[in-house]
This record gives sequence, structure tokens and C-alpha cells, in this order.
Amino acid sequence: MRALGAEVTLEKAKVPHWVRGQETGDVVAWTGQTPGTTQKVVLTALGGSVATPAEGLTADVVVVDDWAQLSALPAGAVKGKILLFNHKFDKELAATGNGGMAYGGGVVYRGAGPIAGAAVGAVAVLVRSVGGADYRLPHTGLTEYSDKVTKIPAAAVTAEDADLLKNLTAQGPVKLHLTLTPQTLPDADSFNVIADWKGTEHPEQVVVVSGHLDSWDLGTGAIDDGAGVVVSMQAIHLLKELGIHPRRTVRFIAWMSEEEGSQGAAQYMVDHKADFANHMGAIESDLGADHPTGIYYAGKPALGQWLRPVAQVLDAIGAATLDASPETGEDIGGLTENGVPSFAPVQDSRFYFNYHHTAADTFDKVDPRHLGENAAVVTVLAYALADSAEPAAR
Ligand SMILES: [Zn+2]
Repeated sequence: MRALGAEVTLEKAKVPHWVRGQETGDVVAWTGQTPGTTQKVVLTALGGSVATPAEGLTADVVVVDDWAQLSALPAGAVKGKILLFNHKFDKELAATGNGGMAYGGGVVYRGAGPIAGAAVGAVAVLVRSVGGADYRLPHTGLTEYSDKVTKIPAAAVTAEDADLLKNLTAQGPVKLHLTLTPQTLPDADSFNVIADWKGTEHPEQVVVVSGHLDSWDLGTGAIDDGAGVVVSMQAIHLLKELGIHPRRTVRFIAWMSEEEGSQGAAQYMVDHKADFANHMGAIESDLGADHPTGIYYAGKPALGQWLRPVAQVLDAIGAATLDASPETGEDIGGLTENGVPSFAPVQDSRFYFNYHHTAADTFDKVDPRHLGENAAVVTVLAYALADSAEPAAR
């Protein structure tokens, strides 16, 4: 970014420091068990999870498919047990291009499961992985605790192992031995990376192009969200290559710690709260690297009209749809709430959640042509926001 002529700064932010440990699961007793055998359960600790005792814990498994089944259980049914939330990812929803919606349906159990489990006396919570592919891959992700109930260990099991536990518990009692040894260390110093490519007429007015720099530890974070960081950097790179220098500043931001609670974005909101009026637009790309079909926008309905000429340009790559949405990105949510027009590329979400938060989030999943199309969407939009005579409606 410095080589391109951008002014690069690091914005310090405190972030959680959670370290994954050992993680194993074995079914040690079930109906029809051959003596002396156990059955491995493939699982991974949820981000932020507390640990089991070092030697693990052994308890009966109770399976529920949703909140309603949990509420319908008799009092005490989960006390001292391991509770599995077996919500199935809606693959048909994802296959029709609504991957985000399918994810939303399951992620609530990953987030709130440990609180709900602890409230009814569970000793640990498992969630069926929130993901679309059955390759026996566990999908991690952040979980939540409350000070009102005990913090209990939490892990995601694969879809296959969730099915196994559901089938076995339907036949009789099932005992699982679970070991999770993550550690939560004191918060650490980290940074948002900010690069300003100064505007020629209104350098004080900024257009944010962004992705998040952190990723889950299981994979390399190529699609979540290396891709978003790269296409955002490309906005400055491509404008420079094209010899276009907009009136307003294009501000690239690589947000820190989106996955563990958006602490980097929260710090930006504190540091820049006097300056929101000068934020003329904000874009975040955080839905992978697959083919873009248009733009999500959050803000005044008039934004739709303002975006028409942008869509016309992007029609050449099949990215001309304009979808009003209440949210456009986790990290720019605070800017959206403060009236900054916000945007995100609409991306093909059919496959993203197959790899999301797994060991398979690696660079080979990125198609260079699709990545280039996303860079085009972000760059054309950033240019419009940064150079239009009439700023985007707010
Ligand atoms: Zn992400």
C-alpha cells in the first residue's frame, strides 16, 4: 500500500487471546456396543470455549434439534449431561443462493447454545457444524457466554457425527468422553491496518473499502476473509493503474478480530466518532471470493437510485443487481448505524459455507477470475463514492 502511494497507519486495538488446545471426542458406551470398542467423534472447540478438566469429562448425551425440543424436555433431563444442538444446515436454501440465510438459521445455536445448555444444567454443549458440505469437517466459530450461568465447554461436531449421536441416542443411553483444553490468555495488542489514498479535492472525506484481517486458526483464512482484504486493496491498486485519482480519499481498512467480536471495528468507532459525517460510504467484502452478482446497500432508499449508473457499468460482468439490506458487514455495522451509506458485494454463496471456518478454508478455493470480478465491483463502487459530484444519499 505504501508503494502505491497510500498513507499507512496501524490503529491499536486490544483483542481476545484464545488458544486452541487438544480436542477429542469418543463415544464410550451405547446400545449394541461391541465390548472394548469406542467410536471417534470428530469435533473442534468453539472460539472462546472454556476447557474441560485436562483428563476430559464423560457424560450421557442428550440431542435436540432446536430450541423448541429443548424447552419440551422434562425438568432435569439435561442436568449433568452433554447437550447436542442438532440443527441441520439448510442446504436447499444455500443451493438457491441464500447461503447467508442458511448460515443464520444455524449460527444462533453456535452462539447461544452454551448459555441455554448451562441454564438447564448441561456440563458441555455440542453443536452440529454450521456448514453446507458433508466431508466430516468440523466448522468452528465464536460462541457466547453469560455471567448469569456457568461457562461450560463447547465444541462443534461434524454433520456425520451429529447424525451418529442422534441415531444412537434414539436407541438408548449414549456416553461420550469429551476433552477440550483451550486457554484464554490476557487480551493482546493488535491492530487495524489503514491505508489512505488521499483525495485530490476533499482529502478529509473518506470512502472505506474493507475486509477483515483475522481468520480462524483451523484453515488459512483465504476465503474468510483474505479475499475481502485483497479485493479492498485492489480498489486502490486498480484506480492507480487506471490513472484515476478521485476527489475524495479511498481508505482501505483491514479490520482486526472480526471473528472474536469485532474489537478492531469497535476501536475504529471510538477513534473516529467525531468524523462520521466525513465518511461518505463504507464497503465491506466478507462473504468469500465467488462470483459477484451485484451490490447490497444499507441506508436511505434513494441509494438505490444513486447506484443505478454503478450497476450499469457492472452489468458487463453480470454484477448489476441492487439489493437493499439492513446490514452489509459486521465491521462496518457501526458506520451503518451512524448513517454512513454502506455496501457489500452480493456474492455467490452456494459453496462458501462448505469451507467456512474449517481446515479447508485455503487458497485453492479462490478462483482468480471470480476474485477479479469482486475487485471490479468494489473498485467501481469505491470510485463512484469517492468521485461523484453528488455524494451518496444519507
Ligand atoms: Zn469473515
